[in-house]
Amino acid sequence: MIKKLVIFSGVLLIILVGVVGVKTATFSSKQVTVDPVDPISIDEDKAAERLAASIRFKTVSHMNPADGDPEPFRQLHAYLAKTFPRVHQTMALETVNELSLLYRWDGTDSELGPVILCAHQDVVPVAPGTDDAWNFDAYAGKIDGGFVWGRGALDNKGNMMAQLEAAERLLENGYEPKRTVYFSFGHDEEVGGKNGAQAIVALLKERGVHAEMVLDEGGAVVEGALPGLDRPLATLGIAEKGYMSVELIVEAEGGHSSQPPKETAIGILSHAVYNVESNPLPGGLAGSAQLLLETAGPEMGLTMRVLLANLWITSPLVESQLGGSPLMNAFMRTTTAPTIFEAGVKDNVLPAYARAVINFRIIPGETTESVLEHVRRVVNDERVSIEPLEWTSNPSAVSPTDGWAYEILETTVREIIPDAVVSPFLVLAGTDARHYEPVAENIYRFAPFQIDSSELAGIHGINERIAVPVYANMIRFYHRLLEHL
Ligand SMILES: [Zn+2]
Repeated sequence: MIKKLVIFSGVLLIILVGVVGVKTATFSSKQVTVDPVDPISIDEDKAAERLAASIRFKTVSHMNPADGDPEPFRQLHAYLAKTFPRVHQTMALETVNELSLLYRWDGTDSELGPVILCAHQDVVPVAPGTDDAWNFDAYAGKIDGGFVWGRGALDNKGNMMAQLEAAERLLENGYEPKRTVYFSFGHDEEVGGKNGAQAIVALLKERGVHAEMVLDEGGAVVEGALPGLDRPLATLGIAEKGYMSVELIVEAEGGHSSQPPKETAIGILSHAVYNVESNPLPGGLAGSAQLLLETAGPEMGLTMRVLLANLWITSPLVESQLGGSPLMNAFMRTTTAPTIFEAGVKDNVLPAYARAVINFRIIPGETTESVLEHVRRVVNDERVSIEPLEWTSNPSAVSPTDGWAYEILETTVREIIPDAVVSPFLVLAGTDARHYEPVAENIYRFAPFQIDSSELAGIHGINERIAVPVYANMIRFYHRLLEHL
C-alpha cells in the first residue's frame, strides 16, 4: 500500500515538474522585434536651453483658483510662438478657456482618424518649507551637471517641449503627416483638468472628432522598477485608478471627562477607522498587474521566470510577496489610506465631534459606489456618518493591448530604447487622459522619459530634473512616432 502511494506521489511529482518545466520553457518574450533606427542628431545643448527657458515661466496651478496668475501662461505662449515658428505657421492654434492650447496639424489623408498628443503646461507649487532643499531655485531653469533642473522638467514641460521640438524638426524637413495630429496642452491638469483638457474634449466632441489614439503622460521608462528585471521597463499606461476620499464623522455628547460614557466620539471613530484599514478591498493578481508580470516575466532571471510562468500554482506565493511592497500592492487592489484624524480640544473635556478622512485609489472593476458600500459595511455603525468628499473620480476605462495604436507605441519605444521591456501598466495617479474617453478608446498614458527612482521622487517633490541625453531621446521618440503616424 505504502509502496503504491510512494509510486503514485512520484508520478504526480514528475508530471508537476514536467508541466512547470514546459510552462517555463514556453514562457517566451512578448517584446516586438524592431529594426534599429539611426538616431537623429539633436543639438542637445540648445534643446536643453529651450526646455530650461520654459521652466522659468511660473505656470503654477493652485487648488484655490484665486491664487492663480494667468500672466506666466501668456508669456509661455509667446515664448512657444517665438521658439517654434514653423509649428505656429503651419498648424491651426486655438486657445481654450484663454490658457489651454490646442494645435491641429492637418494630415494629407482625411480618411484616416486623427491622433492627439497631450501634455500640460501647469506645474504644482513648491511645497512650503522645501525651497531650501532645492539645489537651485525651482523656477531658475538651470542647466548643471548634465541635467535641466526645475519644477516641470519632468512634469510636464519636458513632455510638452519634446513634442514641439519633434514637430518643428519634422516641419523643417518638409514632413507632412498622413493623419491629422492634435497637440493638446491643458493649463490645469494639476487641479483636475476641468477648464483645460475637459473643455478641449467637449470642443472636439462637439465637432465630431474621434481620435484613433490619445497619448498623455502616465508611465515612463523606469530603471530598477521590478525586482529581478535588470533592463529598463517602459510602462505603457492602459488605465488609471479612480479617486475618492471618504469623511467619517462622529458626534457625541460632550461634557466633563470625569464621568465618561462607555464609548466616546474618539473611541467610536477609532474603531471605525481601524475596521476600514484592517479590511482592505479584495484584490490580487488580475488585470493590469497580471499583464505586467506576464509581459515582464519572460525577460527576468530563471527563478522569476519559473514563478511567473506558473502563476496557476504560484500566484498565492507571488501575491503575498508582492503585497508586501506598497507599490506592487497599489497595482493589485484599491488602496485604503487614512489621511486625516482630528478630535478633542482639551485634556479634561469629552469631544463632541471627531472626524477622519480616508483616501481610496480605486482599481478598474470597482467604482466609487462599490467602495463606499464596502466602507459602510465594514464600519457597520449608525453613529458614524460616512460621506464622500467632493472630488471623486471613477477608474478609467482600460485601453486595449492589441491593435494599431498600442503596437505603434511599443514599436517606437523599442526603436529609440532598444533594451527597454515594454509592458502594459496601471497608472496610480490621475492624469488628463481620463477626460478623453468621450472622443477615443485607444488612450495611452506614457511619456518617454528614462528615469530611476531618485528622479521619480522629483515629480511633485524637490530637485525635479531631467538628464539632457534623456530629454534628447524624448524628442527622438516623438519624432519617430510622428513619422509612424
Ligand atoms: Zn503631470
